Amino acid sequence: MSARKEFSPLQAEAFPKKCPSCGKVYADEQRFLAETTSVAHAPSDIRSVRHDEADSNIYLEVFRNCACGSTLMELFHSRRDLSEKGLTRRQLFDSMLTILLEAGHDRQEARAILLQQLPAFKDS
Ligand SMILES: [Zn+2]
Repeated sequence: MSARKEFSPLQAEAFPKKCPSCGKVYADEQRFLAETTSVAHAPSDIRSVRHDEADSNIYLEVFRNCACGSTLMELFHSRRDLSEKGLTRRQLFDSMLTILLEAGHDRQEARAILLQQLPAFKDS
């Protein structure tokens, strides 16, 4: 199993994803992250989403610019079962880090984003 498949789109049918403006098709999440660029005007192109405090599932909203300039958004989550008992915050952190690294952030930057977006990780 490859570490590159540690995460997946929230919706299985999300890919292939087609840009509504120019029609460019992204075959899978790797291509989506590799062939789009960061959204320059946003403070971060990653946002964490929690349904509620009791919900241990954390999703990341990833905003990316298509080559045509349109902003595309996709929800990602860890492929691991985050609700599984015994899952540590460290494992979750590592999964989310993988998503950010795939999105083109360097490791230091990615860690900073996670700590900013997910304050709970400060304890781990
Ligand atoms: Zn496009």
